[in-house]
Amino acid sequence: MSSNQTDPGSPAPKGRGAIPGLIKGLATTARTLARPSHTAEYPDAQPHLPPRSRGVIALLEENCTSCMLCARECPDWCIYIDSHKETIPAPTPGGRERQRNVLDRFAIDFSLCMYCGICIEVCPFDALHWSPEFEYAELDIRDLLHEKERLGQWMPTVPPPPALDPGAPEPAEVAAANKPPRAARPARPATTVRPQPPAAQGDA
Ligand code: SF4
Ligand code: SF4
Repeated sequence: MSSNQTDPGSPAPKGRGAIPGLIKGLATTARTLARPSHTAEYPDAQPHLPPRSRGVIALLEENCTSCMLCARECPDWCIYIDSHKETIPAPTPGGRERQRNVLDRFAIDFSLCMYCGICIEVCPFDALHWSPEFEYAELDIRDLLHEKERLGQWMPTVPPPPALDPGAPEPAEVAAANKPPRAARPARPATTVRPQPPAAQGDA
């Protein structure tokens, strides 16, 4: 092989290929120069946020059973829950008393929260929801600790869930709500008694 031949596997010499790249870059600059600016002048112009934006977490207090799952799964340990047990008297004489958790405190510290959404995902009772609201900046970082009253005030800003995909099965809770009352349900067909095989002679 002669000494001035180029090895096909070796990198291109410096400078070669830079000119087309430069022309391409200048063409992009020229194209965008003619377009109007897309800068949204917040706060004069409100941004159009997608409905699933993660702005703030809202609490539906009546759904919360104080199960502590969200607080245990939160990677930042920024959910604080206090509750106590309450005895519910037996509904009928001779019946059993029952106990239920009463939520005393539910707070999220948004100065620690990293908006991962794990608490919302793990809540088995749909008590936590994303709201796209984001205008809750504070001058004092301690004010970013939202107690349950404030978390509840975000609920009206939670967008309704998106429509189901075509052909998707009905959600379990909707199916349960649409079930006819017990009395109106059709009677179950009588159970057929299967004939038993005759016992063997030695079994008696
Ligand atoms: S997981 Fe849901 S129900 Fe359980 S404590 Fe958290 S918000 Fe309440
Ligand atoms: S979004 Fe994540 S970090 Fe924030 S409170 Fe929920 S689990 Fe914790």
